[in-house]
Amino acid sequence: MGKADLHTHTTASDGFLTPAELVKRAKKKGLETLAITDHDSIKGFLEGKETADEVGIELIPGVEFTAIWDDREVHLLAYLFDEENEGVLDLLLRHKRARRERMKRIVSTLNRNGVDIDYDEVRAESGRGMIGRPHAAAILVQKGYVGSVNEAFIRYLSSEKLGDLPVEYSRIKEVIETVSDAGGVTSIAHPGPLYSDRDLKGLIATGVDGIEAIHPSHPWPVQKKFSELAKSNHLLMTGGSDYHGTGRSDYDPYFGIVTIGDQYVASMKRLSGRRKQN
Ligand code: AMP
Ligand code: ZN
Ligand code: FE
Ligand code: FE
Repeated sequence: MGKADLHTHTTASDGFLTPAELVKRAKKKGLETLAITDHDSIKGFLEGKETADEVGIELIPGVEFTAIWDDREVHLLAYLFDEENEGVLDLLLRHKRARRERMKRIVSTLNRNGVDIDYDEVRAESGRGMIGRPHAAAILVQKGYVGSVNEAFIRYLSSEKLGDLPVEYSRIKEVIETVSDAGGVTSIAHPGPLYSDRDLKGLIATGVDGIEAIHPSHPWPVQKKFSELAKSNHLLMTGGSDYHGTGRSDYDPYFGIVTIGDQYVASMKRLSGRRKQN
């Protein structure tokens, strides 16, 4: 049985490795299938394809969308969509703009809280990748406001600290429909620490296709709970390491270890195949 990692990040968002480096590392770890799921970007996936062919690993289309559900930001993984689908490309473009606007608002809030930081610095930190709070966190560390990225999130960048920021991310239903129309499938990312049982019911009712049961933040009983929830709701089960690159995240040691069997990838492909036929 082959192993798959369906949740990873690269320099195309807030990951540390380039897509080529990540793909090579995945091959070294013995993975058969990999999904690069950068935040609101498929640039990493597109860039990684060539290396994947070279080293002989299957790289499937993937992305981790941020979406709005019930006034909350949720992470929704999407897979196996047609990467040239106009609906998907338009959604990604809108989210890129939304993220830039959001970062400008975050910078203003930080300025009001006495932090000397400007948008261009954060933009530079994000390089050519999709901008996000980890890039602002890195500047806060560099300038000595905090000792670590984690502390930056706790003291400055949590949703509690930032307050209500209007963000133009798409609603979850729109994301699900767009991905499905593009022949793809969706899965609720890392539900473990985030949602009550009532929330989960509501999320499943949005029409999502799967649940990320396997994630480094899920201890065994939590994995079990979510795999049972997936089964009883006839949903796909997905899983991955949420690897961001050496030292960038608490989950990094789990790359190559937190994986999912390729029979689950096969189920995803069957659903995607049916959608592509219609
Ligand atoms: P954003 O994409 O701007 O909403 O930022 C969220 C991302 O920041 C998450 O996907 C994680 O990769 C990262 N993140 C969230 N909380 C923390 C934390 N406490 N320490 C380090 N990284 C975090
Ligand atoms: Zn991230
Ligand atoms: Fe996430
Ligand atoms: Fe992630």
